[in-house]
Amino acid sequence: SNDYRVVVFGAGGVGKSSLVLRFVKGTFRESYIPTIEDTYRQVISCDKSICTLQITDTTGSHQFPAMQRLSISKGHAFILVYSITSKQSMEELKPIFEQICQIKGDVENIPIMLVGNKNDETSGREVETSDGEALAKRWKCAFMETSAKTNHNVKELFQELLNLEKRR
Ligand code: GDP
Ligand code: MG
Repeated sequence: SNDYRVVVFGAGGVGKSSLVLRFVKGTFRESYIPTIEDTYRQVISCDKSICTLQITDTTGSHQFPAMQRLSISKGHAFILVYSITSKQSMEELKPIFEQICQIKGDVENIPIMLVGNKNDETSGREVETSDGEALAKRWKCAFMETSAKTNHNVKELFQELLNLEKRR
């Protein structure tokens, strides 16, 4: 089918909802509103046809384990977000990546994008770009730094994920 399901994971506060809202609605808010779990649909053109991008914005690390397993089984592609201002948020992605491996098996064939968000916060940086690149290399996945606030690399993130899918 032309339905393409993308799941966004990451610790609370790293900017998952902000990235999704920036992409889907073009907006940004400074306040933090914890997410339950939300799904957004965006019709996009791909390969001269039209497909529906279904983006699931998860609650982060406090997601119920059964819900997390279900999101992974249903997902076609994954965005794993940390904040460049928090080393801890990068650590919190590791068990999620491992669970994706367990459930999906051959992850090399699954589009995964590791994302270092908040790259506008240069003075609070705790994670170097090279740390992100190194982790992505270890995980054999793609990598990008973004800012939902300044709209840096947000469109590119979703576009690149679709390109990864087409390359499979
Ligand atoms: P989530 O828990 O991962 O969904 O995080 P949110 O999207 O709710 O964002 C948490 C907080 O970080 C909010 O106060 C946002 O305004 C802020 N935030 C999100 N993305 C960025 C960003 O790219 N740069 C900066 N400076 N702040 C951001
Ligand atoms: Mg959220």
